[in-house]
Amino acid sequence: MSNLINAAATALICIGPRDEIIEFAIGHLQDIMCPHRQAQPGSACRCAVCHAITLHQSSAVTWIEPANDYLLEDIEPVFNAIRYQLDEGARHAFVFVNAHLLSVACANRLLKVVEEPPRGYFFMFLANDYAALLPTIQSRGTVTYQSVHQTPMLGGLLAYFTDPEKQQDPAGLDTLLRNETISLAETRLLVHQLATIIDYTQYRQPALARQTLDTAQRNFPQAGGAQHFLRWLFMALHAARFIE
Ligand SMILES: [Zn+2]
Repeated sequence: MSNLINAAATALICIGPRDEIIEFAIGHLQDIMCPHRQAQPGSACRCAVCHAITLHQSSAVTWIEPANDYLLEDIEPVFNAIRYQLDEGARHAFVFVNAHLLSVACANRLLKVVEEPPRGYFFMFLANDYAALLPTIQSRGTVTYQSVHQTPMLGGLLAYFTDPEKQQDPAGLDTLLRNETISLAETRLLVHQLATIIDYTQYRQPALARQTLDTAQRNFPQAGGAQHFLRWLFMALHAARFIE
């Protein structure tokens, strides 16, 4: 996953259903903060760092999720935290859940620190709809994750990589690929999403499935190569899922 996200980015925007993007955020934070996952992004890890992040109890992550609209006092923890200088190499994340509810006053107050955070600090804005974010937030962040379920065509395509029946229907995939034009950006999004939601326990060869997704993330197709790439990915995951 980290292959797709610039680890040095200090403002990330994640778009999708709440639970899905929280899960994505947790995975991303673990990739950045856990020493094991830094070496092997997306790997299963049971260390104390990962565990604390999963439980929203990590001291390196400040989750901000007001019950209603954001008030200035809700974002005060950011300013309390950044008074302290982080050790070299240390990271601290602020995660704004329902960032589309940030008020103009809050966004303005955050502007400068989001633009130029002190060393090691970074921001994640989680929202269900990119268009609902304030322009000041939109322009500060890099969109790193967008649920494919928000685009019906990609959601349909994703099923060929997750649904056990569709994963055995190469003819169906062929038809879809013939009838739809799928861009490289969409292909990237699809693989990104797949890496987030894949359930390796459903695979007869989980190590092969993991390796396939790793390869997919590292070897994105060139222009015009999306269809070929998606057929390859389909066959490779099919083999990993159904063949001993
Ligand atoms: Zn870990």
